[in-house]
Amino acid sequence: MEGFGLSGQLNLQQASVIVVGAGGLGCPALQYLAAAGVGRLGIIDHDVVETSNLQRQILHNEQTVGMYKTESAALAIKRINSRIQVDIITEPLSSLNAANHLQNYDIILDCTDNAPTRYLLSDTAVALGKPLVSGAAQRFYGQMCVYNIGSDGLCYRCLFPKPPTQSETCEETGILGAVTGVIGNLQALEAIKIITGLHDNESNMIVFSALAPTPFRTIKLGKKDPTCAACGKEGEKWCGGPAPDWEQQGLADGGPGSRISAREVGRIQPMQVIDVRPRTEFGICHLPQSRNVPLEDLITNPSAYLPEDNNVETYIVCRLGNDSQMAAKALKELNKDSDNRVIKDVIGGLRAWSRHVDANFPVY
Ligand SMILES: [Zn+2]
Repeated sequence: MEGFGLSGQLNLQQASVIVVGAGGLGCPALQYLAAAGVGRLGIIDHDVVETSNLQRQILHNEQTVGMYKTESAALAIKRINSRIQVDIITEPLSSLNAANHLQNYDIILDCTDNAPTRYLLSDTAVALGKPLVSGAAQRFYGQMCVYNIGSDGLCYRCLFPKPPTQSETCEETGILGAVTGVIGNLQALEAIKIITGLHDNESNMIVFSALAPTPFRTIKLGKKDPTCAACGKEGEKWCGGPAPDWEQQGLADGGPGSRISAREVGRIQPMQVIDVRPRTEFGICHLPQSRNVPLEDLITNPSAYLPEDNNVETYIVCRLGNDSQMAAKALKELNKDSDNRVIKDVIGGLRAWSRHVDANFPVY
């Protein structure tokens, strides 16, 4: 193929990729990496195959139910390409073993479904200086991003400095199998681009929504954050030593300007900010103090989202300022009798926010 050639194929043969998670994302990623001829593939997973996995974990099948996912996936990709080396690691990944397991591979694929492992993989990728191709999928939505690429590529912690207090996995919220197929394939594609020198070394997040008229969107993420605790200048201090306790840091007092006095708070009208975008988009970026109520949830049961106190003003925001109008209308309909409540939508949405208020807020 023009633009790829024999050199591209030889690069693939000499490359190694470690795939963490042999589930909905890991299976399609491994399938395409094996078929493309990546010379050495590692698979990390400690779960066994269950029947309920089969709608999305397409390397496994009815005959391998009960088998470790690592073994089942290895069998399947060996059937595709018997010439590649496949290493399996059937144990949970932890901060004690991550660097050891990941250090012998060129690229790390995050195909897991929980927040603590995302932070662990990101911090380990930074410490080892390796690109991390990260995927996530829930319900009809997915996202994919390459972290720690090139000399100034950002890491997961640059984007999400504080780990969430609780995490949802697709076991709880459900997922359409073909959606994980889309994201897992994109992860394989990014890995192949990096190996063959076709990647532009930019960190862009691809956001996928199966039901949207334009299902793919790209968000430019920019460069690494110099104040990032993992990859910024300060962070480099702890790469060789023990990592800070993130939870403790989250509970500690902020620096100057990060807190507000009671008197100052008194001058601000009591208000709630509702962000009606899908959860995936809210997870990528949102205004401080805003709460996420996806549009369909709000429309289904608007009365649940009116504040009890009439004096609390409600502001609704979305990406461009269209969905927020529908949400504001639904709340106002409920509120016909008393016109003293303030319910407003933000004109131009978050796009206008980043243009006029905060230039650092991501545009997409
Ligand atoms: Zn960082």
